[in-house]
Amino acid sequence: MTELAPYAVTESNSRGRKIAEVAPQGRSEFQRDRDRIIHSGAFRRLEYKTQVFVNHEGDLFRTRLTHSIEVAQIARSIARRLRLNEDLAEAISLAHDLGHTPFGHAGQDALNACMKAYGGFEHNLQSLRVVDKLEERYAEFDGLNLCFETREGILKHCSADNAAKLGEVGERFLNNRRPSLEAQVANLADEIAYNNHDVDDGLRSGLITLEQLETVPLVAAQLSEVRHAYPDLPERRVVHETVRRMINTLVTDLIRQSESNISSQAPATLEDVRSAPALIAYSPGMNELQRALKNFLRIHLYRHYRVLRMSAKAQRIISDLFGIFMADSRLLPPQFQSLAEHDRARAVADYIAGMTDRYAIREHRRIFAVEEGV
Ligand code: MG
Repeated sequence: MTELAPYAVTESNSRGRKIAEVAPQGRSEFQRDRDRIIHSGAFRRLEYKTQVFVNHEGDLFRTRLTHSIEVAQIARSIARRLRLNEDLAEAISLAHDLGHTPFGHAGQDALNACMKAYGGFEHNLQSLRVVDKLEERYAEFDGLNLCFETREGILKHCSADNAAKLGEVGERFLNNRRPSLEAQVANLADEIAYNNHDVDDGLRSGLITLEQLETVPLVAAQLSEVRHAYPDLPERRVVHETVRRMINTLVTDLIRQSESNISSQAPATLEDVRSAPALIAYSPGMNELQRALKNFLRIHLYRHYRVLRMSAKAQRIISDLFGIFMADSRLLPPQFQSLAEHDRARAVADYIAGMTDRYAIREHRRIFAVEEGV
């Protein structure tokens, strides 16, 4: 195995776990974090939560589970090439969406609106809350008791107000410091994964077309290469050949630019990384190209009228559920009733955020449809 770079996160420079534990045998601390994440209940629920499409719309679309696995794959490739801690990059990637609400961005916006008067709802913060508190599996602690660097990577964004309440893991948002390179890698791997799979799922659903995508330079370049090399290729294969080339182009550019940033900044330690500007980045040209792709997806896919119709339904379901549980917390399942005694709104948000798409739809029916069993 190649040796890790001197500024990579290791067990010796790690700030460790909140509650000290006996060192694992036969695996590293970060492998243990990854394993705990995979065995968590929140991780299994990702299978029935969506990004853009609602879970029951089709079996071929990405869910948050397959998305997280794709993020981990991309992050590991980059981390290995840059001699960073691959296990940490993988753990962060697999955990990054654990706090997501049902119904993707629509669900998150709806829950945030409901929580406005009660401290708001941020999905990154919720992912941290899941691994720090909400998973109830271990005898000696709440949550998964993950290493600081894994938790730091999960908390990708955070408002200053919330950061101030979080202690050590929130400090970098107040002091303008960066997280580890492994966290920076996982963050950009997330973006590479969703931009590309949204192109793929968008085409499969018929909401966007290849002709439209020809206006996007990053896609057009790869598409014309594929069509030129394989003039008679069926369309599904054209799409996949194009998407795999796009991922490869983005990853290759990211590695090259990051290597150059690292060599000019020359960090000697992990602490140097934290005080340097973000070192994991695309080249300026690629940054423009991927921005144009994002923009295209926002206009043509995320704001497609069929996606917006589903979003409207999702918002309705979430605000109905929030309203009724806030009005009468006795309707909550028992474990959330006890949380609600302390902070009703947060308990309701925790309950709703943990729901899968189909569970939220069923729960809405159970509560609001008179003919439905309770
Ligand atoms: Mg994600």
